[in-house]
Amino acid sequence: MRVAKAVANLTEAFERLPSIGPKTAQRLTYYLLHVPQGELDKFADSLENLQKNTVECALCHNIAEISPCDICGDRNRDQKLICVVEQPLDILALESGNRFTGVYHVLHGVIDPLHNIGPEEIKLNELIERIKQNQPNEIILALNPTMEGEATCLYLKKQIEGEKLTVSVTRIAHGLPMGADIQYADDQTLSHALEGRREY
Ligand SMILES: [Zn+2]
Repeated sequence: MRVAKAVANLTEAFERLPSIGPKTAQRLTYYLLHVPQGELDKFADSLENLQKNTVECALCHNIAEISPCDICGDRNRDQKLICVVEQPLDILALESGNRFTGVYHVLHGVIDPLHNIGPEEIKLNELIERIKQNQPNEIILALNPTMEGEATCLYLKKQIEGEKLTVSVTRIAHGLPMGADIQYADDQTLSHALEGRREY
């Protein structure tokens, strides 16, 4: 059976999205065939404006409507305390609890040699430049506890030492999540939890 071209086109477009397989792509397309045209127009508008109406903040590289973004422009936030994250979504998570009062720096990835992502492909040099210019007191590394996250932290620390920049570099603690059971935790999690221990 030959599938209508418009259906095939949209299914292919969905399939190119992350974590969407062929079956889900088909289901989404056929679902949209039953949605009122007005809703579809709104959806199409949102897609069209997604990149047109957003910018990357020149300071922190987060996605925003203006540059500098709201966070970088907020004088109540500590501009000398920079939290380094992998992705803009990490900022959403950290901001949801209002627990952080500094500013951010989004790397847009981590060093990943297997996928040909080196320091030049992410916003690492921009961070070094920012440290040189703004002279923050502290850089908090809030990268994921993966091999790539570790490699990126190490590289950054070496760069900061190599450039003889006077900034304190800290890392968020990695360990057991709330409600976890020590006997089921893996070795790496436990060793991180032990390393990250502090005075009680
Ligand atoms: Zn910003």
